[in-house]
Amino acid sequence: MSDFNHNISRRRFIATAGATALSSALLKGCLGNPPEDTPTITSAQATKISIPTEQVPEITKVRLGYLPIIEAAPLIIAKEKGFFTKYGMTDVDVSKQANWGAARDNVKIGSSAGGIDGGQWQMPMPYLISEGIITDNLKIPMYVLLQLNTQGNAIAIADKHKDKGLTLKADKAKALFDKMKSDGTRFKAAYTFPKSNQEFWIRYWLAANGVDPDTDIELLTVPAAQTVANMKTGSMDAFSTGDPWPYRIVKEKIGFIPALTAEIWKGHPEEYLAMRADWVDKYPKATKAILKAIMEAQQWCDNFDNRKELVQIVATKNYFGVATEILEDTMMGKYDMGDGRIINDKSMAPLYWKDAKGNVSYPYQSHDLWFITESVRWGFLPKDSLATAKDWIKKVNREDIWREAAKDAGFPVADIPTSTSRGIEEFFDGTKFDPENPQAYLDGLKIKKA
Ligand code: CA
Repeated sequence: MSDFNHNISRRRFIATAGATALSSALLKGCLGNPPEDTPTITSAQATKISIPTEQVPEITKVRLGYLPIIEAAPLIIAKEKGFFTKYGMTDVDVSKQANWGAARDNVKIGSSAGGIDGGQWQMPMPYLISEGIITDNLKIPMYVLLQLNTQGNAIAIADKHKDKGLTLKADKAKALFDKMKSDGTRFKAAYTFPKSNQEFWIRYWLAANGVDPDTDIELLTVPAAQTVANMKTGSMDAFSTGDPWPYRIVKEKIGFIPALTAEIWKGHPEEYLAMRADWVDKYPKATKAILKAIMEAQQWCDNFDNRKELVQIVATKNYFGVATEILEDTMMGKYDMGDGRIINDKSMAPLYWKDAKGNVSYPYQSHDLWFITESVRWGFLPKDSLATAKDWIKKVNREDIWREAAKDAGFPVADIPTSTSRGIEEFFDGTKFDPENPQAYLDGLKIKKA
């Protein structure tokens, strides 16, 4: 390295940061447990943070939306444990969204008009927003930048259907739903936003069990709180969503959980960080600072020793506004399924940095392809979307930015995937999805619209 370059790289950016936030970031982050004898950092030391000059963000302010479900934990932890500040993003507004529709409307207008610059999304919402499909034909180009978590979702069913054979493998489901249909009380299942994760999970589970979700039952969009109320009164039969909702249903003795999404597809892709492309293009360093902070938060979240504290932070009124006991067990992989089945397995919990398949945070393009393929399967996207999917994904999925951020931050090379594909995926019914041949997956499925 020339002296000139050496000097440049040695020049540090000094900023003032909250002492508490930073010392906890330094002490509690992130790559496993800190040794017992970790020295305490004095507040005088902690008031200064240093960032290599070439990595100093162009802007310190950003507004990121979130929904009060466990997928949002890395965003909230990045804020509360000082990781955003550590990377120079000293003014991050982590902003609660009333529902998915509100998040979409807020990203459509952007933060300059009182909305958001990006945040937490179900898939393939960023793709649909980019193409104007769910934004009244107004195309808002977005970049998928990071996956927030895998797993952590479930299907809940009202108690009145207990002991009717509605389990993960439910070969009696079709007959039950047919009977309900002929009685004029069609089985009703809800999710909080259509044509994305929650709808895909319940559709996948039903179809794998021989139920055609488009003709045998009724699927509809209902706000989470409303669904719980409807399940209480008996006007709703099932519900697909993220924790804490399914657990709440069991706790309040409204229903049971036939399947965790981690049982349907172990290590399945769940929710993502995506931002407006114009913001990312304008502020590439700030984007990477955001990614580094969230990745570090994900490493913190993934440590089960931190999960009790995680629950205490996200459960507060500022964020989820729920009792901590609603989240405590599920965050440790302990699920009372409400039908006599107890799952106690950390590998079934929501995971934030590593799961059985590898890295969680990295946004695999092969997963985006599955979401697009599944959209084609159910007729949400035209059949020819598959032919152009790879180009579409290259435009929207910016795994390259994730890689640069991970390298800048010095995260272990072993944690950085070498391929944009996670390879062949397998579901609970034995079905396989080969990202090299999505058409073969579609062709092999018995129940589909396409
Ligand atoms: Ca979810």
